[in-house]
Parts: sequence; structure tokens; C-alpha cells
Amino acid sequence: MKGEIFQNLAKIVKKLELSGLTNSEARTEARIIVAHVLRVGPLDVYFHSKPLTPEEKKEIEKLLKRRCQGEPLAYVLGEAEFWGRRFVVGQGVLIPRPETEQLVEVALSLISPGPQWVCELGVGSGVVSLTLALERKDLKVFGIEKSPKALQIALTNRKQWRLEKRVFFARGDWFSPLRPGPYFSLVVSNPPYIAPEEWTELPPEIRDYEPKEALWAPKKGLYYIEKTLREAPTYLKPNGFVCLEIGYRQGPLVREIASRMGYKTEIIKDFAGHQRILVAKLKDTLAHR
Ligand code: GLN
Repeated sequence: MKGEIFQNLAKIVKKLELSGLTNSEARTEARIIVAHVLRVGPLDVYFHSKPLTPEEKKEIEKLLKRRCQGEPLAYVLGEAEFWGRRFVVGQGVLIPRPETEQLVEVALSLISPGPQWVCELGVGSGVVSLTLALERKDLKVFGIEKSPKALQIALTNRKQWRLEKRVFFARGDWFSPLRPGPYFSLVVSNPPYIAPEEWTELPPEIRDYEPKEALWAPKKGLYYIEKTLREAPTYLKPNGFVCLEIGYRQGPLVREIASRMGYKTEIIKDFAGHQRILVAKLKDTLAHR
């Protein structure tokens, strides 16, 4: 019965709209949820001619209930897309953002050809480390993560993408698992950078579900940014880079901090025009990259 899938979708759309989504959001998400349960692509849903089985209906209901209660879609589905690839996510790791894809793009532009090591601080689900390694076959990545739950998810993703030989994840607090280097040509991080004062401005979907320790940082949100810039020289090879995602209002201050520490800096804007990525280099000029 071909019409059945449309009736089901319409019912799901209505429920999602009642929970506060716009019609267009609800239609997109309804398709994604059904596709997820049927294990097909979102557009293939329309061509699903078989009636839904009771198990499929039950599974859809379960996911829909969680979504309607406000849980982010990526957690409900247990996966998110990053750089065109699927990664496992769950409560306990940050849901990867498009801005972070830009962090990866900038990081890739900083890595010269040839085998070398990159360090990622705060790997979360592992999307940054794993994408760098997938895009550059000669690269090795050492990622550090404090949360055991996040580390578990990062290891699952590493296995899924078969990167056990080039990506290494260690548990620890920022650079703490490492002895003084130098090892790395690049230190990259999407650190927690939301200031305590900004916490209440966050939408409930983020505030109530995503891990606070992945988002929130003392000292006006600058704590981890400052710590990275201060400690990175111990682990960076000569002419190495620090590449950090930063808060959209932090650019000028971050630049000042990095310059004071002796770095040459450049800030790259995101697609919304916000200053979003800091590139800092200890020696030489940025023009040489
Ligand atoms: N590196 C992960 C990401 O960018 C996690 C970052 C974090 O938890 N602050 O999605």
C-alpha cells in the first residue's frame, strides 16, 4: 500500500510540529526518523511500498517520543553527519557542528605534505581527529579526552572508520598524558569556550542535553584557549601551528592573548561572518604557510 507511508509521515510531522518544530523542520526530521528505522536513505522513504511492521512502528514511536520531549535529533538517532560521513554520537559528547567542519578545513590547509603527527585536545566523539586522518593518509593523530564516556564513543568511531593504526586516543586532562616534546606540527582543538555568563543564553536543547564540560569554560570562556596557547610550545615542532575554534565574540581578545605570548595570528571567519578560527604560529610568518 503505497499511500501508507505518506499517512505515517503526515502523523509524525503533526506530532513534531506540536512539540515546537516548524513545518519544514518537522517534515525533514520525520523523513530522517523513518529512514533511520527502515535503514534506507531519507529520500528512499517515499518509495517504501511495504506497510510498516509493528516493530518498525514501535521503534518510530520510541524515537519520536524522545524527540518531542526536546532531545536533540542526533542523540535520538545515535548518529550525526560530519564532513559527509556518519559518526556515532550520544549524550556525553558534543554534537558536531558545521563550524567545526571549518576548523578541519583550516587545519588541513596548515598541514604540509609528508608524514607527521597532529594533536587534538578534547576529542569528544572523535570527529576532528578521525576526519583529519581520513583526509590525509600520511597523518598520525594523537587525541586526548578527559571523559571516559566520550572516549568510548571516540573509540567506537575509530573502529568504524578502521583508523586504529593512525589515530591514538588517550584519557587525560588536556596535555597531561604527554611528556615534553616536540612531537607535533599542529595542535588542534574545538575547546569548551562558552563563558559562565553566557550559559543561560543557550537554547534548552543544548543546555539540557549536551555535556556542560564540553561547552563551558571559566575566565569568560577563555580558560582552555589560553591554556592551549600557553602549553602548546612544549609539544610543537618548530614552525608548528595552533588551530582553535573560538567563540564568535572572542576574536579580538584571543588575538591579543596569543600575540602577547609571541604568536603570529590570523583569524578566519565562519559562514555567518563571525570570527571563528584562530591560527597561531610561533615563529616565521603566517605568509609562509
Ligand atoms: N572535538 C569534538 C567536536 O568538535 C568535541 C569538542 C568538545 O567537546 N568541546 O565536536
